[in-house]
Amino acid sequence: MGNVLIYLEQAEGALRPAALSAITFARAVHKAQGGKLLFLLIGDNVKGAAAQAATFGADGVLTVEAPALQHYLAETYAPIVARVAKEQGATLVGGTSTAVGKDLFPRVAGLLDAGLAPDISAVLAARQFRRATNAGNVYQTLEITSPAAVVSARQTEFSRAAAIGSNSPVSAVAPGNIDAQGAEFVELQTQKRDRPDLTEARIVVSGGRGMKDGKNFAQIEQICDVLGAAMGASRAACDAGMVPNDLQVGQTGKVVAPDLYIAVAISGAIQHLAGMKGSKVIVAINKDAEAPIFQLADYGLVMQWEKALPELLSELKRIKGA
Ligand SMILES: Cc1cc2nc3c(=O)[nH]c(=O)nc-3n(C[C@H](O)[C@H](O)[C@H](O)COP(=O)(O)OP(=O)(O)OC[C@H]3O[C@@H](n4cnc5c(N)ncnc54)[C@H](O)[C@@H]3O)c2cc1C
Repeated sequence: MGNVLIYLEQAEGALRPAALSAITFARAVHKAQGGKLLFLLIGDNVKGAAAQAATFGADGVLTVEAPALQHYLAETYAPIVARVAKEQGATLVGGTSTAVGKDLFPRVAGLLDAGLAPDISAVLAARQFRRATNAGNVYQTLEITSPAAVVSARQTEFSRAAAIGSNSPVSAVAPGNIDAQGAEFVELQTQKRDRPDLTEARIVVSGGRGMKDGKNFAQIEQICDVLGAAMGASRAACDAGMVPNDLQVGQTGKVVAPDLYIAVAISGAIQHLAGMKGSKVIVAINKDAEAPIFQLADYGLVMQWEKALPELLSELKRIKGA
């Protein structure tokens, strides 16, 4: 079999947490298939991130830099990933199935005429992968039979890799002809939040429709601030306009797997569970003792949030000395 080429996401001179999960996936798939393990970074200036990537034990780190690559565009990045894969004899290309990964890898698979295994949760063999489907209720085994394979890994299923202090060679690859095919980067609109990113936070506190009103989420925000947690929500709460849609956790929202997930006034519909059931410890606060969330929760509190949240906040403040 050929080599393994893993695309690593970076921002502002450093690897993104998603890249560290990609490296854990890379190690698993490299162990199964052999060959050389190569990391690929693309951007305007990726030298800092490349130096960091060199410490994770790969056989090589490849960089493709150009001002026109400053912002991710599938139209410019996908042909580069596919070309580098061919040049390097990579028969397995992959990364993490973040928003970028979900956009990038199907195009790379198309360009390489390769089979695609998207959003996998485990590497079973060189060409065999496990992935969740049907809102996480069914696991399927995918086997790729084409010579080249493109695989994206679910970030929450692969822990962040630790550096081993290696000094992998870093080589620059010419960007070649960059053609955005009519696409144009216009603007990146991000919401600046003081709290950690939902998909990267070690603690998430989510509210559901039972919070009744957007202004009541201020109580969840206060708890997040004491815990250093990210805030999430159910789809019902987002759809009702209580909080922005990008906080939605679940099948059609974000998938999270923090160390601690606190679900407040969330019933526990399967579509919500699909986005958080990988959490290490789950705490549920709900006034209805029959709510399905209690079947999954490690700790449950049957109580109105109006009473529970102020008590929880004052106790947390006392413990933290805040
Ligand atoms: C195709 C599809 C995709 C979907 N994707 C998602 C998704 O990604 N994420 C998602 O979350 N949902 C998703 N849903 C919706 C999902 O089916 C549920 O409708 C939704 O999760 C319900 O949200 P909820 O638990 O906040 O609301 P509800 O089901 O209305 O539950 C509210 C809960 O609050 C409790 N409560 C009420 N008042 C209080 C109080 N004062 N104190 C304490 N507890 C209280 C109630 O007992 C109840 O359990 C999807 C549905 C479909 C069909």
